[in-house]
Amino acid sequence: MAKYTGPSCRQCRREGLKLFLKGDRCYTDKCAVDRRTYAPGQHGQARKKISEYGLQLREKQKARRVYGILEGQFRKYYQEATRRKGVTGEILLQLLETRLDNVVYRLGFAGSRVEARQLVKHGHFLVNGKKVDIPSYQVSVGTAIEVAAKSKGSEKFKELKESAAGRPTKDWLEVNVDNLSGRVVRIPSRDEIDIPVQEQMIVELYSR
Ligand code: SF4
Repeated sequence: MAKYTGPSCRQCRREGLKLFLKGDRCYTDKCAVDRRTYAPGQHGQARKKISEYGLQLREKQKARRVYGILEGQFRKYYQEATRRKGVTGEILLQLLETRLDNVVYRLGFAGSRVEARQLVKHGHFLVNGKKVDIPSYQVSVGTAIEVAAKSKGSEKFKELKESAAGRPTKDWLEVNVDNLSGRVVRIPSRDEIDIPVQEQMIVELYSR
């Protein structure tokens, strides 16, 4: 599947909920989900009966879109989750949540996951002291993440520092806004992952 290059807001309208793909705009009254509460397209306002398969598909698409992952890669995360001990759906979400781009976003060092991915790709972050520019890099307990010294003084990060200062951080992360650094304290449990997805339905979809 090719990379989705269409409007982000269309994806939220398709899923019927805010996926927070555009940073600050998502918190304003310009949000397309608030303005148009129906699905996009010619038949967006038509009443449709959705099959069980359709419901499972929507849950999977929702998760993919939240984390900005293509189908092939998403399936690989699922396969990895099935290989690990525990509840497959929860492990799947934990794998997605501990991607470096997501952790950067959760630490408050980017306004959205899309921005986090771009900042990581441009080499602005150090992981355990070494430059890592792979957004899908998997962090683990104890991993230290820090904005690279050369980037700390940039306008971008000065702005982010200000906006990150008042933001609540997740309990599974430790953040030092002054130093633009953070650490993974533990792997989040399901109730610490505030993604409105029924992961069991994704497992059912892939188990068909
Ligand atoms: Fe989704 Fe944000 Fe667009 Fe609202 S503004 S529809 S939450 S991407």
